[in-house]
Amino acid sequence: MSRMGMAKDSVPESSILEDSLDRARSQATYDALRPLSVGLAILWTLFIPFNIVDLPDSARDAVVAHDVVMVLTALGLYFLLQKDRVPVRWASALAALLACGIASNILLAYWLTGRDFLSFYISIVLIAAGNLILSTRWLVAVGVSILSAWTLLTLPQVSSNELANLVFLQVAATLVAVTIHLTRIRFTGRIFELRQRDREREVALKKALSETEFARRELDQRVADRTRELQSAHDDLTAQFEEGIRLEAERRALEAELQHAQRLESVGQLAGGIAHDFNNLLTVIGGNMDMVLDTAGSVDEVQRTRLKDARDAADRATELTTELLAYSRKQPVVLEAIDPRKTIRGMRSMIERATGENIELQTELNPIEGSVLAGRGQIEQVVMNLVLNACDAMAAGGRLRIELDQVEKVRDPLASVESNGPFIRLQVIDTGCGMDDSIRQKVFEPYFTTKETGKGTGLGLSVVHGIVKQHRGHLTVESAPLRGSTFVVYLPCVQSPESVEVSAVSRVSEDSAATETILLAEDEAAVRRLSKTLLEKMGYQVLAAEDAQEALDIAQGYEGEIHLLLTDVVMPGMQGPELAEQLKRTRPGIRVLFVSGYTDPSIFAGLDLSEGRSFLQKPFTLKVLESKVRQLLLS
Ligand code: ADP
Repeated sequence: MSRMGMAKDSVPESSILEDSLDRARSQATYDALRPLSVGLAILWTLFIPFNIVDLPDSARDAVVAHDVVMVLTALGLYFLLQKDRVPVRWASALAALLACGIASNILLAYWLTGRDFLSFYISIVLIAAGNLILSTRWLVAVGVSILSAWTLLTLPQVSSNELANLVFLQVAATLVAVTIHLTRIRFTGRIFELRQRDREREVALKKALSETEFARRELDQRVADRTRELQSAHDDLTAQFEEGIRLEAERRALEAELQHAQRLESVGQLAGGIAHDFNNLLTVIGGNMDMVLDTAGSVDEVQRTRLKDARDAADRATELTTELLAYSRKQPVVLEAIDPRKTIRGMRSMIERATGENIELQTELNPIEGSVLAGRGQIEQVVMNLVLNACDAMAAGGRLRIELDQVEKVRDPLASVESNGPFIRLQVIDTGCGMDDSIRQKVFEPYFTTKETGKGTGLGLSVVHGIVKQHRGHLTVESAPLRGSTFVVYLPCVQSPESVEVSAVSRVSEDSAATETILLAEDEAAVRRLSKTLLEKMGYQVLAAEDAQEALDIAQGYEGEIHLLLTDVVMPGMQGPELAEQLKRTRPGIRVLFVSGYTDPSIFAGLDLSEGRSFLQKPFTLKVLESKVRQLLLS
């Protein structure tokens, strides 16, 4: 507390100091009591034999008894102090009592024996001095009681000339005692200050210790927190590092797959381009051969046979271009809602014929909610190509399992994301020879085959791949040598499918006379020539144009009715569908037949094939052309 604080509380500074000094004195007295009580006990124990020997019979018993009381009192006090049973505020009183006890012992001995005074005075001086050291507040009381006892005991016994001596000695003793007492008071203040400082130091030390302890705990806590943070950062880093390694591996795998897919894509484009050109050529070759063969009598039998062989070869070439188109995903597809379970059930006998006797066939066709929007022929082709390959891989027998079910998601191997479904999942699983990685990576490439010449074309899986991609599906393969193979096809599932175009070909009336006018738009001169000849042979009047603009001009200048527009889909300048639209405006009743040898699915999807319109794939035979045109004109 500051001085100002003390002034505020209006407690006089001197009284505070006095209080502190009192407390310091009591404490000093209290501290001195313990050694004093032990010293007294020893001293009085030694007095007992001395008094027994030295004192006359008349005084011995009483003094020795007093000695014993003193020894017991001193020991009792020591033990009480030892056990902290004596309050500090009693210290002065106890010290005074001890002083009185000592004095009473000596005075008792003197009274009973009447010994000479010098030793008595010395005793008194020592006793007074010793006790005054201890006794503080009680100084006057103790001094007065001892002097009174001395007066009562000595005065009746001393002569008048000894009295001056005795008084002188008494005054001297009292002066010594007072001097000691004053000195002690001075030192008590100093001791008090030192003690106070010690206490303050102790308090500061304790405070510093507790602060250190607090700081240490805080430090421990921070160390623990930081360690935890470091540990979690380390864990994060480790996880990130592992994730990085995993992503890198995934990226490499995806890159390889992407390259593979790009290679397949470019091969597909090349194949599609070639197939398109071939279609035009095959239309001309096949059509002209049909015309020659139709002209009965103009060729002899040998030439007819040769021409037929050539026609068959053209047909085979047509099949091959169809496969190439399927691979390049440019085959025109008539989409319809297909129930894959029904389709596969319907193929059962065909599959059984392929598997033969030494292959066990298992099918598990789970219920599917919805259908697949697909070309029926294409789906059958996918299943058969996979089944035939599986059978080839199990020449010595085995088990072929076909499973069909529905999944919600498919992981797109190229996008490293999941495509949302639902998808139907078709699995063709065999227990055949399987493939190693180098073969597995190439199986979808066109003309890749491990089969002996004449047995495999290397187009089966390329076609499957093309068809699946054309239907926006996914295709995966898992295989290992001697462990069999699993081909999985995912196709998008639709809930409420609508048939895009399923029109049954109505029977063409053979007898109906062909007298209608047909506007023909075809940029390829040979195809245009052939188509014109074929149509004219059928009896139609044909107005031929080499592009859409010319067709429009002809139509504008032609006054009669034009019954049908036969147009190529893709032409330089205006395209077939736009030509059809423009003609429709001036001639609403006109029928339209689109032809194309190269139909991108997107172009095909954009075609309006509503009533009075149809599509014909190049190359076409005379019969198919005739039937399609007839069917349209009769609708
Ligand atoms: P092809 O059957 O004419 O050889 P594909 O494209 O159908 O052509 O198949 C290419 C190659 O893929 C086959 O030659 C064969 O090595 C391998 N292959 C395809 N299916 C399987 C299968 N189920 N088990 C083992 N190998 C197969």
